[in-house]
Amino acid sequence: VVGGGPAGLMTAEVLATHGVAVTVYEHMRSVGRKFLLAGRSGLNITHSEPLDQLLTRFDPADERLVAAVRSWGPEQLQRWSASLGQPTFEGSSGRVFPEAFRATPLLRAWLRRLDALGVEIRTEQRWLGWATTDQGSADPRTSMFAPRPRPGQTQPSPTEPVASDVTVLALGGASWPRVGSDGAWVAPVRTAGVVVHELQPANCGVRVDWSALMLERFDGAPIKNLAVTVQGVSIRGAATITAGGLEGGPIYAHTAAIRHHLGQTGSCVLWLDLHPDLTREQIITRLSRRRPKDSVTTALRRTLGLPPEVIALLHEVVGTRLPHGPAELAHLIKSAPLEVRATMPIERAISTAGGVGFTELDEAFMLRSLPGNFVAGEMLDWEAPTGGYLLQGSFSTAVAAAHGALHWLAWP
Ligand SMILES: Cc1cc2nc3c(=O)[nH]c(=O)nc-3n(C[C@H](O)[C@H](O)[C@H](O)COP(=O)(O)OP(=O)(O)OC[C@H]3O[C@@H](n4cnc5c(N)ncnc54)[C@H](O)[C@@H]3O)c2cc1C
Repeated sequence: VVGGGPAGLMTAEVLATHGVAVTVYEHMRSVGRKFLLAGRSGLNITHSEPLDQLLTRFDPADERLVAAVRSWGPEQLQRWSASLGQPTFEGSSGRVFPEAFRATPLLRAWLRRLDALGVEIRTEQRWLGWATTDQGSADPRTSMFAPRPRPGQTQPSPTEPVASDVTVLALGGASWPRVGSDGAWVAPVRTAGVVVHELQPANCGVRVDWSALMLERFDGAPIKNLAVTVQGVSIRGAATITAGGLEGGPIYAHTAAIRHHLGQTGSCVLWLDLHPDLTREQIITRLSRRRPKDSVTTALRRTLGLPPEVIALLHEVVGTRLPHGPAELAHLIKSAPLEVRATMPIERAISTAGGVGFTELDEAFMLRSLPGNFVAGEMLDWEAPTGGYLLQGSFSTAVAAAHGALHWLAWP
């Protein structure tokens, strides 16, 4: 098993439970670093919504991915978590978390289980690709590894080739490379002739060039209640003004549409409703109560209770003075056009879109062109919003790939 993230470790568990001798290769000093990072603000392990609805969150809803989640879904995942001493609970909006909320106790118990099953974990071993046959093609039964280069160092020479009866690749995407998922696997996998769709940021913020004044006063300020509309689809939630732009759930949820639009036209307008609890008419009525001596800013604060960061955001969007009349102001508050020209870079994204194309896989997650090699987790070409779907998809495809591997091995 190559890659010691949730997908790799789950594959290892399933294989080892069936008696297969498993070695996990991981290039960081320890496994599960992104899993631990994901748990920092609460490990949202899956979602409690009905399965049919949950399945609509995956894009593309490839039949193999759907089958994998159907056969090892939220119920199985929660039972598995409980079996490691972490029964789950349902948090806000149906999100499911382990009892400890964080990932550390779960990972610790999991590693103890893997150890008891005889799984060997070799860290600081970087997968470089498959060995090359005398004919110059990739040898599907042999992988090349080398120590992970230190920053500024070139890639050290490969160690001895490692042969295996079956290989499961679970190398993750390319977001947060400092926890290990750096996407460097794309080059060797493509060289071996496998189609890999470009890795792109998913569940990420948008870049905005704020004015110096905005940054000075509102870097880190929350916009607690807004609705973001992109191409007619509106999503409510909270956002945060950051030095680089705007982050938050409703923006993350639009990433695929924003990326698509940016790809086509080079820009994308996010329509911000900065007072989603009031209708345009209600806002006009309230603004009409403005005292004659009040400035526009004071009126927005007094009549609508808009906080300074929201008023500043309106200024940024307009670029000049705010309109004076209640109708124009109400229109702006309900649909402020924030034009963006880029998303945050993939290094800052929560997850990755793109990856190994499903066309490359058979129904058991095996690479058609490299028999005996299976792929699982985020390195596959699917994306999903936040809400526990990313881990669910990673675990489900891992279980499916492990069963595919058992079948391939004709394991009793
Ligand atoms: C800040 C943050 C918060 C998140 N929160 C949540 C959440 O609450 N809920 C949720 O569902 N999802 C969350 N996610 C997403 C979730 O963590 C990932 O979808 C999940 O970890 C993917 O699992 P994976 O095993 O496929 O890949 P990864 O976890 O990325 O694991 C891949 C492993 O492969 C190793 N590796 C990479 N290249 C090589 C190589 N060449 N050789 C050897 N080893 C290599 C990496 O070091 C890594 O250990 C979050 C992500 C981030 C960044």
